[in-house]
Amino acid sequence: MLGPVILAASRSDKMRRFVSAAPGTKQVVDRFIAGETVGQVIPIVEDAAAKGLEVTLDVVGEDITTVEQSYAARDAYLELIDRLKELGLGEKAEMSVKLSMFGQALENGHELALANVRPVVEAADAIGTTVTLDAEDHTTLDSMFAIHEELRKDFPKTGCVIQAYLFRTEDDARRLAAAGSRVRIVKGAYKEPASVAYQDKAEIDKAFVRIVKILMAGSGYPMIGSHDPRLIAITQELARQAGRNPDEYEFQMLYGIRSEEHIRLAAEGHRMRVYTAYGTDWYGYFMRRLAEKPANLLFFARSILTK
Ligand code: FAD
Repeated sequence: MLGPVILAASRSDKMRRFVSAAPGTKQVVDRFIAGETVGQVIPIVEDAAAKGLEVTLDVVGEDITTVEQSYAARDAYLELIDRLKELGLGEKAEMSVKLSMFGQALENGHELALANVRPVVEAADAIGTTVTLDAEDHTTLDSMFAIHEELRKDFPKTGCVIQAYLFRTEDDARRLAAAGSRVRIVKGAYKEPASVAYQDKAEIDKAFVRIVKILMAGSGYPMIGSHDPRLIAITQELARQAGRNPDEYEFQMLYGIRSEEHIRLAAEGHRMRVYTAYGTDWYGYFMRRLAEKPANLLFFARSILTK
């Protein structure tokens, strides 16, 4: 029951100020956020590569309020891609972006977000990698899918994310499971109303399995974003039934969560990509991680109280 309360708090400026200033916060944030700067995240990409893992890098930030911030988001990704190029790490790391950080909710936001994300996708393509558009709350998705379709005309490997908790997603999966597409399926991390989304965990898990089946039966490249051991085992079985080799889909997990499982799946011969978030505007990302597991909140509360 705490999850929805924390997700509501993730949109509150008052809570943002309180959490950001609380002593003890940094210690908990560090579990989920790989660093504040490009310089701090590069060794993590190198370490992951040495362990046989790939990464997708997310410069944290969302729900910006000015056009200048949207340009800063674009420039942060361009700086990251430059560093990956310099170090020859282009093929080890792809990028994940949130369109709300590129200005999607501002005036003419759809056009602005597309104009800001296009140079990032171009620069990623030039160093041999790709960009995946994260899925945010359901009101943003028609615009996200339209931007995805537009980008794919020139950069067909541009990926997108679909969320199992939404009723619409099975249809989206059918549309997207086509040749050359890269689709990440996740359970969904936002607070969504019962009019658009399953609220019950078992219903979400069942929908997740139905969608993995659709993606595996299609001709695209499924990316399974989950830490749930049951869904991972079911995915492996569905991939086998669909006749897919381990390099014809991949697992993805978040930095700081079930790290031993990242290594285990990679050692079994699976492609494993670690979603690695970094930067200073970590509040929204961090609060969603707290909401996913009540024990995290307890740990967080303890670390504040003992400081
Ligand atoms: P759960 O049933 O929530 O978790 C299974 C087990 O994993 C738990 O029992 C626990 O052991 C562990 N676990 C899960 N979460 C945590 C946590 N926060 N802290 C500690 N342990 C945890 N959501 C979106 O809405 N849009 C996106 O674009 C998006 N991108 C994602 C990308 C990746 C690579 C991943 C892995 C997730 C992404 N998510 C995204 C989040 C996703 O929607 C879920 O909220 C999140 O993955 C938790 O669901 P789960 O499938 O891991 O299953």
